[in-house]
Amino acid sequence: MRAEALGEKRLVHNYGHGGGGITLSWGSSKLATELGLQGHSGPVAVIGAGVMGLSTARLAQEAGFPVTIYTAALPPDTTSNIAGGQFHPFAVFHPGDATPEFMAQYARATDYSWRRFQIMVGDDYGIRWLPTYVAGDQLQEQLLPTFPPVNRHLSSREHPFPLDAVVQYDTMYVETGRYLRQMERDVRLAGGKIEIRRFAAPADVAALPEGLVFNCTGLGSRDLFGDTELRPARGQLAILEPQPEVRYAALGDFGYMFPRADGILLGGTFELDEFDPTPQPTDIARIIELQKRFFDGFRCTA
Ligand SMILES: Cc1cc2nc3c(=O)[nH]c(=O)nc-3n(C[C@H](O)[C@H](O)[C@H](O)COP(=O)(O)OP(=O)(O)OC[C@H]3O[C@@H](n4cnc5c(N)ncnc54)[C@H](O)[C@@H]3O)c2cc1C
Repeated sequence: MRAEALGEKRLVHNYGHGGGGITLSWGSSKLATELGLQGHSGPVAVIGAGVMGLSTARLAQEAGFPVTIYTAALPPDTTSNIAGGQFHPFAVFHPGDATPEFMAQYARATDYSWRRFQIMVGDDYGIRWLPTYVAGDQLQEQLLPTFPPVNRHLSSREHPFPLDAVVQYDTMYVETGRYLRQMERDVRLAGGKIEIRRFAAPADVAALPEGLVFNCTGLGSRDLFGDTELRPARGQLAILEPQPEVRYAALGDFGYMFPRADGILLGGTFELDEFDPTPQPTDIARIIELQKRFFDGFRCTA
């Protein structure tokens, strides 16, 4: 995230959040709007209507600015819609490359997001807390003093999983379809305009009437702003029918299982530099097979 001049305009980039874009959405957008809105007057443009564009738009509206979102696609046709929705900043940076400045920014963004999502918990936004069980003895990194609030090793008597070591932590899960729908409604209810438009080059952005533009185009920034450092990562998902009685999430070598009101999400593949978003039936069948093998191994108690 950074600001630069584009002709007469200020352009603030807010993209490139790896596998943690839902998690970091409020916090990263908070830092972006602090950077952009200071000293600005007049309307604001946001490019993109994924989780980053919608959060940025809401924060600019909360600060009193009229907002127009320009976007090639709206939910449900964004990457944000197919995210698992776990509050966990997964694969956001390479630890060896992170500067102290980056880490300070990252901690601030995580902290703001963590607090913002907590005040949105409930059915209207599709956010809920779940205990999460992870294979292995590695406790979750305690990113903030309050996150994760529960983070402990379980003894074999405390879980039924076919595993020698299990860690439990608590976090929030976002039903992304419902959440993004609601966020889009919030933007419109606050007077925001949304225009469907794909930008081909920075000159198109420079021609917008707004003096301040937030670039929330995610992977689209690669072509639009020539950022070839940006790399795609593809993840495949299998979605089972919803089972409201499943009230925990699980992760391990078998992938991940996130139960949501719109279905049980099974996933765990991660293919770096894969641009093609076409679902791969063989990978999806493998995800289901691994999960089946894992859940078949449950110990039953009388
Ligand atoms: C399988 C999978 C699981 C994931 N699970 C999680 C998870 O559990 N937790 C988590 O925190 N994160 C998760 N993520 C990561 C998360 O989905 C992303 O980091 C996040 O969605 C990025 O949001 P965004 O708004 O930046 O991008 P996007 O959602 O891609 O939105 C970009 C927007 O910009 C628009 N756009 C692009 N180019 C242009 C252009 N040239 N002109 C106009 N508009 C343009 C698009 O139409 C779109 O509206 C997951 C990702 C995947 C793939």
